[in-house]
Amino acid sequence: MTDAQNIWKAILNELELTVTRANFATWLKCTHLIEVLDTTLVIGAPNIFTKDWVEKKFHEQILKAAQKLTKNYIKKIEYRMVSPAATKNLVAPNISVEHFIAQKQASQQASQQQTNSDLNARYTFENFVRGKNNELAHAAAFGVATAPGKRYNPLFLYGGVGLGKTHLMHAIGHGILAKNPKAKVVYVTSEKFTNDFVRSVSRGTMEQFKQHYRTADALLVDDVQFLAGKESTAEEFFHTFNELHQNDRQLVLTSDKLPKMIANLEGRLITRMEWGMIADISSPDLETRLAILQMKCREKNFLVEDSVLRFMAEAISENIRELEGFLNRLTAYHEIRGTAPTLDSAKTLLASIYPQQQTSGLTPKRVLAVVSEHFDVSLSDILGQSRKKELVMPRQIAMFLLRETIKYSYPSIGLALGGRDHTTAMHACNKVQSEISRDENVKQNIQSIKQKLYSQSVNVL
Ligand code: ADP
Ligand code: MG
Repeated sequence: MTDAQNIWKAILNELELTVTRANFATWLKCTHLIEVLDTTLVIGAPNIFTKDWVEKKFHEQILKAAQKLTKNYIKKIEYRMVSPAATKNLVAPNISVEHFIAQKQASQQASQQQTNSDLNARYTFENFVRGKNNELAHAAAFGVATAPGKRYNPLFLYGGVGLGKTHLMHAIGHGILAKNPKAKVVYVTSEKFTNDFVRSVSRGTMEQFKQHYRTADALLVDDVQFLAGKESTAEEFFHTFNELHQNDRQLVLTSDKLPKMIANLEGRLITRMEWGMIADISSPDLETRLAILQMKCREKNFLVEDSVLRFMAEAISENIRELEGFLNRLTAYHEIRGTAPTLDSAKTLLASIYPQQQTSGLTPKRVLAVVSEHFDVSLSDILGQSRKKELVMPRQIAMFLLRETIKYSYPSIGLALGGRDHTTAMHACNKVQSEISRDENVKQNIQSIKQKLYSQSVNVL
């Protein structure tokens, strides 16, 4: 037992005792250790099916065995698909298990900081591509990481799905820890915050809850729009916010909309969210998308020609997560076959994922449903006659989107909106068009509605 590969062999030996022989032979025998990254074992599988299956069915057993064999040193297992040909270069260097563990334990303090903070190691400033779409957000995030609790507090990052909010938030966490490894950085999604809160109420462990969240040096809360409508959780968050803010602890929040556009959120909480710095992230332009793809290739060791990357960047523009998903699929497809991606294979894959134009599959019903969900107003209110401001805007945007996405005629738009006149539809479309260039807020809203519309019709990725 002298090299890191043997950790994996030992784990497999353990598993062999607990899973059926057929399962072992089919799924586990063909796996291998790619590398050990800090406290993470990265396991390779020869194809995507094996990778998915092993991850889904055996993860818990694998993790348990790994922890047992490394005296709890290993905290995480990651699975990757690697073609056998490529494996040779990736195998970890020979080091003894004991030496490896001793070395790691010596630097345990630092690594504990990392593992405790729930931060994704890949989401750093170094891996984040700056573009016009995220300039301000990036600068503010960097400022916060350099001087937490001082300049922008809270920092509120907002923008559509898959545009890098979570990435920047984690980067702030890493940045703070890099300067001060002892800092207590707490990253949490608003859903987890909610669950933690509800659980501690029902179990009577509020003290622990408070101890955890109110002693953070930096509290990063992702997707705060989900606090809307959750009264008691939002109230608890309000008190947490106040306590931290009074003590100059850094708060970073993300959301898919501006604070004041989050419906069903208390005014006093909205005011707090607007206290510091608000920065948006919008859709990246072509060059930025290309740069992001190049960055992902470097990060993941993918070899893809620039012409192929450019094609992808041109084809998918609204959502970086989708773009990255496409890159992963393309490279997975080729790794299985041991070939390199080409322009033709990228085109074929794209056509198989998006059989028709993205707009197909959109119905007026869906457009109206997504608009009403986005603004949190009922469909009957959108179709109705009320002239209230919070209904007129969503109604006009619905008309505009019917025109823009499914090319409805003005009379049909009028009909779809509860039998309105075609001149009303025309007026609404023109109005929204001019608002878009005038009002950043309207532009943002439309962008994120469009994302929702398209992501629902392409959720195969
Ligand atoms: P959001 O939280 O806004 O929905 P994420 O932060 O999860 O989006 O980003 C989705 C994916 O796109 C992540 O893998 C992230 O690393 C990547 N990404 C987004 N913007 C950038 C960027 N500017 N540079 C590098 N990667 C990016
Ligand atoms: Mg996110």
